[in-house]
Amino acid sequence: MSDRIPVIAVNRVSENAKKTLDIVRKFVEEKCIPADPIFSAQIGEGAQRWDHHPSVIDDLKVEARKLGLWNMFLAKGHYKESPGFSNLEYGLMAEWLGRSRTASEAVNCAAPDTGNMEVLAKYGNEAQKQQWLKPLMDGVIRSAFLMTEPDVASSDATNIQLSMKRDGNDWVLNGNKWWSSGAGDPRCKIYITMGKSDPTNPDPYKQQSVILVPADTPGITINRMLTVYGYDDAPHGHGHITFKNVRVPASNMVLGPGRGFEIIQGRLGPGRIHHAMRSIGAAEQALDWMLMRINDPKKTPFGKQLKEHGVILEWVAKSRIEIDAARLIVLNAAIKIDELGAKGALKEIAEAKVLVPQAALNVIDRAIQSFGGAGVSQDTPLAYSWAGIRTLRLADGPDEVHLQQMGRNENKRGAAVTATINKQKAASDQLFAQYRVAREVPGPKPRL
Ligand SMILES: Cc1cc2nc3c(=O)[nH]c(=O)nc-3n(C[C@H](O)[C@H](O)[C@H](O)COP(=O)(O)OP(=O)(O)OC[C@H]3O[C@@H](n4cnc5c(N)ncnc54)[C@H](O)[C@@H]3O)c2cc1C
Repeated sequence: MSDRIPVIAVNRVSENAKKTLDIVRKFVEEKCIPADPIFSAQIGEGAQRWDHHPSVIDDLKVEARKLGLWNMFLAKGHYKESPGFSNLEYGLMAEWLGRSRTASEAVNCAAPDTGNMEVLAKYGNEAQKQQWLKPLMDGVIRSAFLMTEPDVASSDATNIQLSMKRDGNDWVLNGNKWWSSGAGDPRCKIYITMGKSDPTNPDPYKQQSVILVPADTPGITINRMLTVYGYDDAPHGHGHITFKNVRVPASNMVLGPGRGFEIIQGRLGPGRIHHAMRSIGAAEQALDWMLMRINDPKKTPFGKQLKEHGVILEWVAKSRIEIDAARLIVLNAAIKIDELGAKGALKEIAEAKVLVPQAALNVIDRAIQSFGGAGVSQDTPLAYSWAGIRTLRLADGPDEVHLQQMGRNENKRGAAVTATINKQKAASDQLFAQYRVAREVPGPKPRL
């Protein structure tokens, strides 16, 4: 793989990262992908669905640690806990992780723990880090991030309602959350929870806080687990959770009351790139499956193999173009984060967040189509992969919110470009008049 690093990245990847990239590729191809069906088979049925996790993950974790593949997402220069890779280097690794259902967790780089570890590493105090970051970094517990609520349009986080009221040395929490990813896993021990602690603050961005809520705190009820196109994503799952007089020590507040917006914004930058890179891996995997299918000598509709039907090779070519273009967009964003931090790379992160899932979905959809009925069944990884990546157009904010922000920023140039174009038009009119006087142009000035 290291010899296939895109040109944009090649001089920015260290020798150590190149070596690690080769180890990641081998680990994913030889250990994780073969383990994926075992993982699915080990998920419990009925009442046991949410009370244990597949043991094959633990075996993969032992192997990954031996290979030195652990927590690679914590970028060097940004976190003192980093194992030493840049966002760009980890991006290249995450692409391989995205080819397998088990790989990200096996190397302790799975969402939402990655974003949650970043929050704790960046904003947590020493006691919070000891209690929660350490076991998360060791991969012995898991976590969930609770922002979205069923009763409000949560893509606008000023709407978040969960009430946080101070009572002595505690905060008391009441409200509802849903799409709490990871809450189904019995190893999920901590909910990083956003709520409203100061609802009358005139600044709508200072009303929210983020607090650490141990998952076993009295008053918490997981009402149900949500499905994604019918998949329940067990053992991880997406919870619909109620908080009723949930009492949490004030020392569990992250950063301080009113700092919630700052924290959620800091959490989402690199995480979006991780999702995007994994999506590219999933798209590459789908293209591989499509190539296998169209070269299958037993499948000859209308007397020819699929690869001999013109439209199919066009699908292959379009898929290659879309994957390669998407990869460049993500790597560009990763480079920008490395150089300027997430705040300096907001445009590039948004470009990747919007473009990559759509490109990956196009590729996976073509692969599904090439398989006929098998494509939507459990006999290929394609249907599950499509369902998972489709959610990335919603999770971490729907496309429209990012597009609106990007459009607004791009449109800031509106007045300046209008002035430039009008100036050019005036200069052109003047020039035209000169040539007309000299009779070197006949007739009226043509429209551009
Ligand atoms: C699989 C999955 C996992 C998730 N995991 C988590 C998690 O772990 N933690 C968590 O807190 N949340 C999670 N979410 C929730 C996700 O972040 C929200 O669903 C998303 O932010 C949208 O919020 P909403 O569902 O309240 O939709 P709403 O805010 O009600 O928006 C509905 C739709 O309105 C449209 N819209 C919104 N704003 C605009 C605009 N400005 N212009 C035009 N149209 C607009 C969009 O099309 C949007 O999809 C997850 C969601 C999914 C599907």
